[in-house]
Amino acid sequence: MIGDKAVQEIKTLLSKKKKIVITTHYNPDGDAMGSSLGLYHFLKLLKHQVHVITPNSWPSFLNWMPGVELCITGTEQLKKAEQHIEKADILFCLDYNALHRTEILAKALEQAKGTKILIDHHIQPENFAQYTLSNTKASSTCEMIFDFIQLLDKTLLINPDCATCLYTGITTDTGSFKFPSTTAQTHRVISFLIDKGVENSKIHQHVFDTYTLDRMRLLGFCLSEKLTVLNEYQTAFIALSAQELVHFNHQKGDTEGLVNYALSILGIRFSVLFVERESEIKISFRSKGQFDVNNFARAHFAGGGHKNAAGGCSLLTLDETIMQFVELLPQYKNTLNNES
Ligand code: 5GP
Ligand code: MN
Repeated sequence: MIGDKAVQEIKTLLSKKKKIVITTHYNPDGDAMGSSLGLYHFLKLLKHQVHVITPNSWPSFLNWMPGVELCITGTEQLKKAEQHIEKADILFCLDYNALHRTEILAKALEQAKGTKILIDHHIQPENFAQYTLSNTKASSTCEMIFDFIQLLDKTLLINPDCATCLYTGITTDTGSFKFPSTTAQTHRVISFLIDKGVENSKIHQHVFDTYTLDRMRLLGFCLSEKLTVLNEYQTAFIALSAQELVHFNHQKGDTEGLVNYALSILGIRFSVLFVERESEIKISFRSKGQFDVNNFARAHFAGGGHKNAAGGCSLLTLDETIMQFVELLPQYKNTLNNES
């Protein structure tokens, strides 16, 4: 992942008490929060002064995570966030590959004088950190935090809070251990974390069994009324207007995971969710097999991510965005249909 010399330098850096800031991407998900808080608990065990700074808030199904109440949120406490970033000796950049993914924090991070350490699994990381730990094959940034702790020879320090946070991000980013990024090593890490005190079944309940009735009804509505299947392209999509979100009393995180459902239909290899937000259409892309949604999102919707999971956006209207999307499909027909 990185050379022995870099590991030695990082060990030296962390050998004395430091002011450390941990940052993650806008709209943090389970992996972003899990890796940030997991690393937070680990660095606290090493007696550092540590702050986790998120650009904005996280979905409420993560509110139970140990240490979440200590996070500083850019949209609510920008001055405080910027001061910590400016003063930090070390800045960890977790689960993002480009500074602009931190939105409101990007400027302060760009100007920060501290040593930046990037730990991330997204494709094509930008070169803005002194140390870049990038592994695009890793299931999650959480699994990489475990690897990082292992590089420092400190896995025995991992406590239940740290383990719980890392477990959460591995679970959410692997779709509960089912995506192809899940390896034997992923399961070894999970097994180690359970041995360290993770109440695994409880975490699944916290994350997956906390739907409000409105969210469940929104899911039902999407599947029965809003799902469009384009068999010719082995593609399915759901598009939600702002009005529909209001109708279901939409809360942050309610559309999380929705994009995955269409991939459970036999023969569907490409699934897309369009959500009308205040100033843009937010788009989620998922695929099964060889169709590369990272390239697709980069090429057409100012986004990116991974081969089988990516995001992007559009400044057109919802209808125009859908039209643009559907018109793009013929040029991908062969790739979408040519699956082994
Ligand atoms: P989601 O669809 O769950 O928002 O995101 C899927 C994956 O794509 C995540 O790994 C996320 O970090 C990444 N992603 C989402 N939106 C964007 C975007 O606008 N730009 C880039 N580069 N990556 C994104
Ligand atoms: Mn991730």
